[in-house]
Amino acid sequence: SVLMGARHFLNYLRDLVRDHNLSDFVDVLETGSMGVYPEGVIVSILPDDVYYVVKSENDVKRIFEEHILKGRRIPDLEISRDQIKGTVEVERVSEETRIVLKNVGEIDPTRIEEYIARDGYFALAKALQMKPEEIIEEIKRSGLRGRGGAGFPTGLKWEFTYKASSDQKYVLCNADEGEPGTFKDRLIMEGDPHSLIEGMIIAGYAVGARKGYIYIRGEYYSSIEILKRAIEQAYEYGFLGENILGTGFSFDLKIRLGAGAYVAGEETALIESIEGKPARPRLKPPYPPTFGLFGKPTVVNNVETFVNVPRIILNGADWFRKFGTESSPGTKVFSLVGNVVRKGIVEVPMGVTVRDLIFKFGGGVEKGKRLKLVQTGGSAGTFIGPDKLDVPLDFDSYAKYGVSLGSGVILVADESHCAVDLALTVMRFFEHESCGKCTPCREGTRIAVEILERISRGEGRKEDLDLLRKVAENAGETSFCGLGQSIPVPLLSIVNNFEDEFRAHIESKE
Ligand code: SF4
Repeated sequence: SVLMGARHFLNYLRDLVRDHNLSDFVDVLETGSMGVYPEGVIVSILPDDVYYVVKSENDVKRIFEEHILKGRRIPDLEISRDQIKGTVEVERVSEETRIVLKNVGEIDPTRIEEYIARDGYFALAKALQMKPEEIIEEIKRSGLRGRGGAGFPTGLKWEFTYKASSDQKYVLCNADEGEPGTFKDRLIMEGDPHSLIEGMIIAGYAVGARKGYIYIRGEYYSSIEILKRAIEQAYEYGFLGENILGTGFSFDLKIRLGAGAYVAGEETALIESIEGKPARPRLKPPYPPTFGLFGKPTVVNNVETFVNVPRIILNGADWFRKFGTESSPGTKVFSLVGNVVRKGIVEVPMGVTVRDLIFKFGGGVEKGKRLKLVQTGGSAGTFIGPDKLDVPLDFDSYAKYGVSLGSGVILVADESHCAVDLALTVMRFFEHESCGKCTPCREGTRIAVEILERISRGEGRKEDLDLLRKVAENAGETSFCGLGQSIPVPLLSIVNNFEDEFRAHIESKE
């Protein structure tokens, strides 16, 4: 919404209020994203509970002159709350079950008071009365799994770090969010930064760490600005620093900026980067819970994972397990992108189908076109055709049905797209992002791009599909880190699910 002029509209409305000497009566506040609505900037008028979509300065002026001054609603600008809150319209889920996005779009993220007024830092106060083992046990019982993509049980990771003896331990937040099409962590940080901070402090207390870092994409200017302010406020209010809430526990939190490398999202590459080295993955084991930042035991979790923590501590593991599936409890925040009508983020319980994400929350395929394929989970995710739309997405859907959950991207492509060109785009991305450390990934991506380019040009050879499969399998089996190891997921899924189209390109030459 910033790109659509949100800041400008905000300042313009503030000017109008000030110029009319209404500052004592009308507050103009900024919030994070209110949900899925790409056509304009959402303005909510309280206490009337009326929502408008603003596309121009003139729309702002009309809202001020008609609604604020005269109390008259403006039907042609108005939209219903349900239209923008894609997050609440799902079976058995009501407003209060927005777990991760509970505060996003509801509070001014620059005011800690608004966060506190919605039970903010209550979970920290409760956690500090508990023993670290009890917190870890509660997180384990909740079944929370890492939302960065791998789905590793969070409580177990914390337990490993807790049990590792050391004079110093760390908590790191992976806010690098380099997956193309993913922007949910950004909207969470910009709409509710204190939930992330609170989750990290609780993690620090649970594992015995006194220091934390948020490793964030350097291009996320607004998120960085909002997080910096939130951290300062948390220090002012005594939630960070020495002797937190008089309990004797101390925790410091700092921000470190990434430089845009995709591989820096791999936890050990991220650790190297914070240490001041090039973001290259380490050989594992040892894993970060025993040998992490500066060789010390370290918890690394994604933004969305940490934000779930205060909710679980406050409401309990049993409450959390009411949502989602048996093996993947809770909700997931998805990014809907591509040829879908309503692009944006949506929070729904784990186990939602791809069909519901696209047609129920995303409003279907743009311009009434036919759905051709969907890539689920990000660049390293699977390409599926319409036959797999009813697969329930959770951390086990890849093992069960060959459909990735990954970081929660749902990229929709309509009938006008070519499967070969999509495969080429993804492999060019992998080639660009390969750090070059190991041959199967560095050379494998280069060869895959070469093959796909010639198929795309209509110069493909009969053996090309087998070659692509070999390159993918080799990279998957022998690459050093997750980036190279994940190459077969997108490449094999698109070649296997859309083989006819690849063959048609190759045979068109003959
Ligand atoms: Fe670098 Fe790719 Fe090897 Fe990972 S798999 S270490 S990104 S070359």
